[in-house]
Amino acid sequence: MSTDQKHDAMMSSSPRATAPSAWWEALQDELLVISADQQGIITYVSPSSQHLLGCSPTEIVGQRIGELLDLDDALSNPSDNNSHQAAANPDSQQTYFGSRVRPDGERIHLALFECNIFDDQENVVGTQAVGFDLTNRLNEELTLQRSEQKYRRLKEDLEVRVAERTAELQRINEMLLESEARYRSVVEDQTEFIARWLPGGTYTFVNEAYCRYVQRSREELVGSTFIPTIHEEDRARVEQEIASLTPERPSVTSEHRVYRADGSIGWNHWTNRALFDPAGRVEEYQSVGRDVTELKNAADTIREKEAHLVHVSRLATMGELVAGIAHEVHQPLHAAKIFAEAARRNLETAMPDGVSTAIDCMNEISDAVTRTAKIIRHLRAFTESTPVRFESINLNCVAREAAEIIAYEVRRTNVKLLWELAEDLPLVEGDQVQLEQVCVNLLMNACEAMLKSPFEDRRLVIQTSHDENYVIISYCDSGCGLGETDKNRLFDAFFTTKQQGMGMGLSLCQTIADAHDANIWAEDNEGPGLTLNFALPKPKRNDP
Ligand code: ADP
Repeated sequence: MSTDQKHDAMMSSSPRATAPSAWWEALQDELLVISADQQGIITYVSPSSQHLLGCSPTEIVGQRIGELLDLDDALSNPSDNNSHQAAANPDSQQTYFGSRVRPDGERIHLALFECNIFDDQENVVGTQAVGFDLTNRLNEELTLQRSEQKYRRLKEDLEVRVAERTAELQRINEMLLESEARYRSVVEDQTEFIARWLPGGTYTFVNEAYCRYVQRSREELVGSTFIPTIHEEDRARVEQEIASLTPERPSVTSEHRVYRADGSIGWNHWTNRALFDPAGRVEEYQSVGRDVTELKNAADTIREKEAHLVHVSRLATMGELVAGIAHEVHQPLHAAKIFAEAARRNLETAMPDGVSTAIDCMNEISDAVTRTAKIIRHLRAFTESTPVRFESINLNCVAREAAEIIAYEVRRTNVKLLWELAEDLPLVEGDQVQLEQVCVNLLMNACEAMLKSPFEDRRLVIQTSHDENYVIISYCDSGCGLGETDKNRLFDAFFTTKQQGMGMGLSLCQTIADAHDANIWAEDNEGPGLTLNFALPKPKRNDP
């Protein structure tokens, strides 16, 4: 019997398989009908197999169902997991799933509903199954499943990242809190004053040290302004200093007087820094400061003491020069006396030109007295204790005045002065008397250094010059020089190599130099002797 004949026999013999074979043939492409005999050999398959499975019925009939389809046991009816065939129970039905890869490579999934076929004696002669194409549904589900899985993975991923980020934020927060606490303790433990304030001077923050200093609580200070605490004479200057701050030069140090909590006037030193917004406008200022009253007072005391010492040293120099000075004064006075006697004689004898000669003598007397008065005036200025007064000075004049003060000493020691003064010497700012004092010291030391040289070798070149920044006076002697003596020690207080020396002359020259922002230094000559240089800064030009 052919396969078709077998099938027809099965169909006609089955009381429940009432559908005509034409019905099967007209099945939609989505449905598949498979009939099999008792051994599970396929006896019939609907033509839709061509569309669904890519195989014609002729290719399929004669195969076992398990050969035709990959059966999915896991999804099949649990009542009969291991068989695609209906159970012995004649009424039993079973559902199973199978799939097959078509020749075009696509896998087709089918759900099969199987039931038994009976003959007239109610004997099972085979099975008949209807298969539904689930491919699209399964693919959709698979896509959905995959999307769900993807979504779940993304969600899990996101949750992990959120957790990590949260942990990190928490850690950063803790670190910030810790560093803020550290910063606060640094700010609060400072002995220096720390403040922040807005343009106009209103405090936004002050530290403990400043509260203690002004004896007011933080609550009182924040919101108030500090401007009234600045001494009124210094206020405009401080405001100007603060107004001058720019993003390029954002900080300035300022020293000014303040009204202190106890009513006294003190000195504050502040470093003020402006904080700018991106547009270059000042948002806030922060300042670090301290009370420098004691320092200022100490510095003032030191300055006073130094000035006193400088004066005492001048007096001491005068003491050394007193014999020479007496001689200098004596000379014109002696000359005046002689001229006075000559004038008297001429007038007494009534000689014809007696009166005119007497007048000439009177003129000489007048010159002599004027010269004496000038020497005395100069000496008085040199020895007087006057406050330091800075003025514009020509260093050439200072050099000459100083040489006049020790003119006698120069003559006595047979030192020849060689003047090399620059003609167009710029003026310098300084105190005339103190600058003369430096020059007198340098002159005296030079003369003393040449005492052991032969008379003809005792030459002292006094030279003035200037470079870009300084106006310089140099005393270049041909004396004993320094030998092994360390040049740097010359300016130490009490350093002396002389038996009667005090060792204060050059040390005080250094003090005077410091007060003038000047430099003083010694250098060995190429030949014999030593050169001492004194360089004063050129005044800064105030460009309009
Ligand atoms: P004093 O003259 O009392 O010794 P100074 O401070 O004026 O004190 O000088 C310190 C020392 O510097 C001198 O004792 C001397 O040794 C040295 N000194 C100063 N000027 C010269 C100089 N022109 N040549 C050699 N030595 C000098």
